[in-house]
Amino acid sequence: MNTKNPDKVVIVGGGTAGWMTASYLKKAFGDRLSVTLVESGKIGTVGVGEATFSDIRHFFEFLDLKEEDWMPACNATYKLAVRFQDWQRPGHHFYHPFEQMRSVDGFSMTDWWLQDGPTDRFDRDCFVMASLCDAGRSPRYLNGSLLRQEFDERAEEPAGLTMSEHQGRTQFPYAYHFEAALLAKFLTGYSTDRGVQHIIDEVQEVKLDEHGWISHIVTKGHGDISGDLYIDCTGFRGVLLNQALGVPFISYQGTLPNDSAVALQVPLDMKTRGIPPYTQATAQEAGWIWTIPLFGRIGTGYVYAKDYCSPEEAERTLREFVGPEAADVEANHIRMRIGRSEQSWKNNCVAIGLSSGFVEPLESTGIFFIHHAIEQLVKHFPGADWHPQLRAGYNSAVSNVMDGVREFLVLHYKGAGRNDTQYWKDTKTRAIPDALADRIERWQVQLPDSENVFPYYHGLPPYSYMAILLGTGAIELRPSPALGLADSTAAQKEFAAIRDKAQFLVDTLPSQYEYFAAMQKLP
Ligand code: FAD
Repeated sequence: MNTKNPDKVVIVGGGTAGWMTASYLKKAFGDRLSVTLVESGKIGTVGVGEATFSDIRHFFEFLDLKEEDWMPACNATYKLAVRFQDWQRPGHHFYHPFEQMRSVDGFSMTDWWLQDGPTDRFDRDCFVMASLCDAGRSPRYLNGSLLRQEFDERAEEPAGLTMSEHQGRTQFPYAYHFEAALLAKFLTGYSTDRGVQHIIDEVQEVKLDEHGWISHIVTKGHGDISGDLYIDCTGFRGVLLNQALGVPFISYQGTLPNDSAVALQVPLDMKTRGIPPYTQATAQEAGWIWTIPLFGRIGTGYVYAKDYCSPEEAERTLREFVGPEAADVEANHIRMRIGRSEQSWKNNCVAIGLSSGFVEPLESTGIFFIHHAIEQLVKHFPGADWHPQLRAGYNSAVSNVMDGVREFLVLHYKGAGRNDTQYWKDTKTRAIPDALADRIERWQVQLPDSENVFPYYHGLPPYSYMAILLGTGAIELRPSPALGLADSTAAQKEFAAIRDKAQFLVDTLPSQYEYFAAMQKLP
C-alpha cells in the first residue's frame, strides 16, 4: 500500500466509461492528478449506449461544454421521454417523460386522474411532454431558448451539486441521444488536450503486491505501467476488479432474464422521416426492441432472453421490425452480464461502467451509472491513508443505485399487461425482490411517493414509478379514498392548464429535425 496522497491514476478501457472518467477527473483535479488511459486496439467497445438520463447535462456542464460544442460532433438529439409501445396491449403506447408530476391539494395528478381523469390517456392528461412527443417537437425554440423559461434561468439550481443532490429540486425536461463511438472520440480529444496520456495497448497481466493491491499492469507493447489508483473500465470482462482481484459478481438474472441483444445502426433520411424526441421501447415476443433516433441514423436493437429466443430468431425479428433500410447493415450480437460486482471498489481498484455492473438497456441507465460513479469517486477520492470508510461510502452509493434501478426495471415486466407468450406469462410468476413485492402491494392503495419507493438514491423519482404503473396497466390501482370526498374543481382546472400549455407548445415549438438542421447549419 502507498503512503503518499494518491495522485497517479491508471484507467484501463477506452469505451464510454473510460473516456468519461478520464475527462471528468482531469477537469476536477487538473495537473494535480496524472491520468493515463490504456485501451486495447483490438478489443472493441460495446458502443451501443446511446440514450441517457436528463442528469447527463451536469456532466457536460462540469466539463464546460455547451450543446453546440459537442452535439453536432456526436449526431446528438434530444430525448424528452421513453415511449413504451405495446407493453400494455398491442397498439397501446404511453410515455415516461422527464417531467415532474404536478400536485393539487396534496394529491398527485395521477391520483386525481385515477379518481376522475378527463381522458383515457393518463400520460397526456398529467404531463405536457406526452403531447410534445406525439407531435415530434424539440424542447427548444430555434433561437435556443428552452420551452420553459425557468429552466434557463436555473434560479433554483445552484451549481456544483451532484446528481443525488439535484433530485427533487427540479426535473430538467430532456436528456440526449448520441452516437457513443463519436462521444468517446470527442472525449478522447478533450482529455488528451488536457494532459491525459493515451496508450493503445493490451493489458496482459495485472500484478498484485503481498497485500492484494495492484502494483502494476503488464502491457503487450509498453511494458509495465504503474499508478496509485487503477480504474477498471474494461467492460463485461472486468479484467482488473473481477478477474485479478477476484471480486464476485452478483447476478440479477433471476429477476431480469434478458441476457442478449442484437443491434443495428441504420442510416435514414431524417429530413423526410423526422426525428422523434424519444427513445422507443417496443415489446416483442421474448423481450423488446429499442429505437434511438440520431441525426442521420437510428440505433436499434432487440434485447431478449436466450432461454426464449435464439440469436437468429432475434435478428430476423429485428430486421423485419426495421424494414428494408436495414438489409445491408451488419448485425452486432452482444451477450450481456446482468448484475453488479459485490463491491465496485476494492483496495486500489475501482470499476466504472459495465465492469462495475449493468442492468439492461430498458430506461437507459448504463451511462447514468457511469456518471454517478464518477461523481461519487471524486466525492470519496482516497487520501494517503486510503481510509476504508471512503471506500465503504462509495460502494454503498454505487450498489444502491443499481439495486434500486433493478427494482424499477422488474416493475416494468411485472406490471406489463402483455401476457401473450411464455416470456410474458413468466414475467408474472417469476420471483421479484421481496421489498418490491411489498411496495407493489402498498402502491395499489397509495401511489408511489418519496416515503414508499426504494429508499436510497437511484435516479428515479416517485413520478417515474407512477408513470410505469399506470402505463403498463396490469397492476390494479385505486385512487386515495380521500378523493371520493374531495372537491375536484382545482384538479380539473389543472388538467385543463396542462392541456392548454401542451397545445401552446405544440403550436409554437419547431420539430426536432428543424432544430438540429439549424444547429448543423443545413439548408
Ligand atoms: P466497453 O464499451 O465494453 O469498453 C471496454 C473497453 O475496455 C474497450 O476500450 C476495450 O478495448 C477495453 N479493454 C478490455 N479488455 C482490455 C485489456 N485486456 N486491455 C486493454 N483494454 C481492454 N447505456 C445507456 O446509458 N444507454 C443506452 O441506451 C444503452 N444501451 C445499451 C444497449 C446494450 C445492448 C448494452 C449491452 C449496453 C447498453 N448501454 C446503454 C450500456 C452502455 O453501452 C455502457 O454502459 C457503456 O458503453 C460503457 O461501456 P464500458 O466503457 O464500460 O465498456
